[in-house]
Amino acid sequence: MRKVRIKTLVLGPLQANCYIVRGSETKEVVVIDPGDQVDKIEDYLKENGLECKRILLTHGHFDHISAAEELSNLTKAKICVFEKESKFLIDPNLNLSTFAGGGRLSFEADCLLEDKEEFNEAGLSWQVIHTPGHTEGGVCYLLKDEGVLFSGDTLFYESVGRSDFPSGNHRTLAESINNRLMILDDSIEVYTGHGRPTTIGHERQHNPYL
Ligand SMILES: [Zn+2]
Repeated sequence: MRKVRIKTLVLGPLQANCYIVRGSETKEVVVIDPGDQVDKIEDYLKENGLECKRILLTHGHFDHISAAEELSNLTKAKICVFEKESKFLIDPNLNLSTFAGGGRLSFEADCLLEDKEEFNEAGLSWQVIHTPGHTEGGVCYLLKDEGVLFSGDTLFYESVGRSDFPSGNHRTLAESINNRLMILDDSIEVYTGHGRPTTIGHERQHNPYL
């Protein structure tokens, strides 16, 4: 039986999706991409008696990471990012905060993830899928048993991420999506970095970029 619980908070000026994710039998959660407005995240956790155990970043752009350090300080949760993406957190030119006008963002990750790495957290089993192209160290997070994928800015509803930022490459992005995501089952629900969710099957049929 399906047990995943997903709360979506849309945060910041770029309206990035932050996901608060847990299994139905625990109050422990994973927070994916705390992009801004840490108070909103904290309020939701408090109101629901939830404990943040881990912060997962899909990639290192400011609109997905701006509240990560504060949330980590508040909850003691570790900030995890793909190994090749860790320099984005430290470098305001890579995380684009230099150009965003909200102050230069620079902090370190607590744990570095590898491709295909698996771990258990918040009552769920997670897998890391490296999907370079939007950035070189971007990843998706798969909940295999639940049929759920968090795609960051790699795959959107009938669209794909931009590839014109530092380390971006459109061909690499298309290869990542085709070779690493489109091999998944049609029924997999995809929770994207911006905008509405979709499914692998819908994108297989309707995504004009693939
Ligand atoms: Zn991005």
